[in-house]
Amino acid sequence: MKEELQRIKAEALDAIKGLTDQRSLQDIRVKYLGKKGEITALLKGLGKLSPEERPKAGALVNAVREELEAKIDAVKTRMEAAELNARLEQERIDITLPGRAPKSGHIHPLTAVNEMIEDFFMKMGYTVEEGPEIEQDYYNFECLNLPKDHPARDMQDSFYITENFLLRTHTSPVQARTMQRHEPNSPIRMIAPGKVYRWDYDATHSPVFHQVEGLIIDEHITFADLKGTLESFLRHMYGDETKVRFRTSFFPFTEPSAEVDISCVMCGGEGCRVCSHTGWLEILGCGMVHPDVLRMNGYDPEKVKGFAFGMGVERIAMLLYGINDLRLFFEDDVRFLEQF
Ligand SMILES: [Zn+2]
Repeated sequence: MKEELQRIKAEALDAIKGLTDQRSLQDIRVKYLGKKGEITALLKGLGKLSPEERPKAGALVNAVREELEAKIDAVKTRMEAAELNARLEQERIDITLPGRAPKSGHIHPLTAVNEMIEDFFMKMGYTVEEGPEIEQDYYNFECLNLPKDHPARDMQDSFYITENFLLRTHTSPVQARTMQRHEPNSPIRMIAPGKVYRWDYDATHSPVFHQVEGLIIDEHITFADLKGTLESFLRHMYGDETKVRFRTSFFPFTEPSAEVDISCVMCGGEGCRVCSHTGWLEILGCGMVHPDVLRMNGYDPEKVKGFAFGMGVERIAMLLYGINDLRLFFEDDVRFLEQF
């Protein structure tokens, strides 16, 4: 029996040596140590031995059984560790891959242009004023020298809410509100950016658009101040080479009034399709504040003078970026917006 035991032990150890997977190891365990295993069979056979031989033989078989068990357990532990390492190696996260960053937007071109305008005037000492978009007829028209029977108040052009309230058609009511809030004849230097509403829709008009209005009032303000201010402003926006010209015009709230043109941003004044071969582009309206407007808002035209100007932000932006359809600003098409 001793030889038999040594043979089984040698055979089992030999079989374990070449193993690489846990399943085969389990097969070995069953083959030798299982219920019907060879070592188990030897243990069962001890009964046939004489009572004197039995304890010694039993101790021998049990020693081999324990040795094999320990060996199999050790190999099993080693296999598990190797498998875990292999899996960790395979599943390792590649930190060199770039992450998926959330898409971030940027400022809308109209906001960017608005900020450029505000930036210029704030550096010149102007304050930025705001007013309601639903405005009283009184502020939108009446105190700006546009009485009820004035032709510029045509119902077709405005969105009325009630007889006395409408969506403001320009940012000019902010001028009137600012004047009325100030001590009579005290100096004002303000711009009023914001949305305005008119009954219009085509490539150069939208029912909602943006204006920036400017107003300065003080003793000794002259038309030369108006020209200097707007020339500096337009060169700030379109470059130092830009030529600026003033043409006489009419607005109910200014006297004298002027339209301001800049040399064409496309051809530089040579003449092209954009400027209708004139070399000039109309950019804003302005004038000296009408004495009646000063009077109606608590100022004395004998003591102070002022100038005012108003521009469409969309128009400024279209000429700055070479955009030919104003509606593109409001369509939220990312392909358009990404270009700025
Ligand atoms: Zn041109």
